[in-house]
Amino acid sequence: MTLQGTSFIGNQRGTGSDISCHANNPATGEQLEPAYISTTSEELDRAVELATAAFPIYSASSGTDRAKFLRTIADEIDAIVDEIAVRGPLESGLPEARLRGETARTTGQLRLFASVVEDGSWVDARIEHGQPDRQPIPKVDLRSQLRGIGPVAVFAASNFPMAFSTAGGDTASALAAGCPVIVKAHSSHPGLSEMVAQCVIKAANSCGMPEGVFSLVYGSGRTIGQALVKHPGIQAVGFTGSQAGGRALMDSAAARPQPIPVYAEMSSINPVFILPGALAERGQALAEGLYGSLTMGVGQFCTNPGLVFTPTSGAEAFTEKLTTTTAAGATGTMLNNSIAESYCSGVETLKAKGGVELLAEVPSSLKGAQGGPAVFRTNVDTFLKDDDLVEEVFGPTTLIVASDEKAELLKAAEALEGQLTATIQGTEADLAEYSDLVEILVRKAGRVIFNGFPTGVEVCHSMVHGGPYPATSDGRSTSVGTMAIYRFARPVSYQNFPDTALPDALKEANPLGIKRMVDGVRD
Ligand code: NAP
Repeated sequence: MTLQGTSFIGNQRGTGSDISCHANNPATGEQLEPAYISTTSEELDRAVELATAAFPIYSASSGTDRAKFLRTIADEIDAIVDEIAVRGPLESGLPEARLRGETARTTGQLRLFASVVEDGSWVDARIEHGQPDRQPIPKVDLRSQLRGIGPVAVFAASNFPMAFSTAGGDTASALAAGCPVIVKAHSSHPGLSEMVAQCVIKAANSCGMPEGVFSLVYGSGRTIGQALVKHPGIQAVGFTGSQAGGRALMDSAAARPQPIPVYAEMSSINPVFILPGALAERGQALAEGLYGSLTMGVGQFCTNPGLVFTPTSGAEAFTEKLTTTTAAGATGTMLNNSIAESYCSGVETLKAKGGVELLAEVPSSLKGAQGGPAVFRTNVDTFLKDDDLVEEVFGPTTLIVASDEKAELLKAAEALEGQLTATIQGTEADLAEYSDLVEILVRKAGRVIFNGFPTGVEVCHSMVHGGPYPATSDGRSTSVGTMAIYRFARPVSYQNFPDTALPDALKEANPLGIKRMVDGVRD
């Protein structure tokens, strides 16, 4: 596929002239061609105009047609996996196998949403028949269902250049809900973004979808990204990235004359609680599992375990294994120079802290964006006094917080901010003794894990990849799994409409054959 370096404004390519970015190979510093041209404000207006015009047509399309569209996008992406496997590692520093795996996850996600919209029951149709003779007042006929919210702006993530980028989870769920999408490409992988956008546009055309159902824009977040979120035609936002970026978008969206929802997935340190029984039973294995989780993908997963609570007593085997494994570890290429710089500075900040001990480290290097694992240890007192210690350091580092006092552990858990995940490593007896800890963690996190590690997010119907702020901007939602569709839909009631004028999902005869609630009873 030839890369042109320009945006997609519906079916047309952008024609701006200012260079927005080049991709850079983080391992070598080499600048990759082509240059990517910033979308102009006129082009952005046009993309939103097209999306606005496409919305009523696209959102009224049948589940079968939308499913065909999503599956065709998946087929188009699968067809270029070999090209993705060449360009992806150059732009992201990620290995080819990861790019192939992420491509499979991306197309699997699209196909999963296709099955949801084809089934059609996701619209949560509810029918309450009218009772004209009810006393003292008649009851009206009321029928409700979920409808797409309108054009959605998606900010691609740097750390999942396929699965949370151009046709990733946010795009798939918004398209599934019946919403046109405008993606703001991430400057870290502009070439992959262009390749995938071509697949989406090709699929839209071959499936007869209205122009504007998808656009891809390039440019700086602070100009083109902000202009997109402030555009009156945009009705919701999906974002994965830093807390600063997500917060800026939340604030801009809230300050619009018409505020709109922002679904931002931001920072999380994913605490792991190793309880005494588990530590005694399998200290060394826990150290190995933790090391594997914290260094996976050079620690650049939103579910990276950045904080680990352990007992002080009986932790020798665990600590020694974690220390020796870390010291014998290796650096890995990070996604880009700026992420490597933030990681190095985060590690240096921890090193300079009083009361925080460096247990082991493989030194990072900005040459080739190399991030090395680093493990620190402190006590609950120090942890509770220093706000910096709960900040996400994006990369392969973790902080062990040691205490033998259950009351201290509960206090530390209570002090945590919202998290994507919280993990308990324990025995059944530990669980019974620490049931109050479980209750705290359920309040703090979107996913509570028993005897596992937080990295590895299954894409399925019951996954919650969300959590209270600042893990996400709205803890009632998930950005992974099929429940993500609900972020981009809103309920609408139809009162006293004749059957012929109702959407198919609400017609008396249930022509779509979907599951519904009728007069309070579910099918
Ligand atoms: P980022 O800086 O938040 O950028 C993400 C996207 O948002 C980019 O397209 C960026 O555009 C845009 N953006 C950033 N600030 C904006 C603003 N004020 N207004 C409008 N748009 C804005 O995230 P990143 O580049 O992916 O990584 C930077 C740091 O974010 C990492 O070091 C890490 O700490 C954190 N991060 C966390 C996660 C997680 O899952 N927890 C994932 C990825 C990154 P520009 O690139 O043009 O600025």
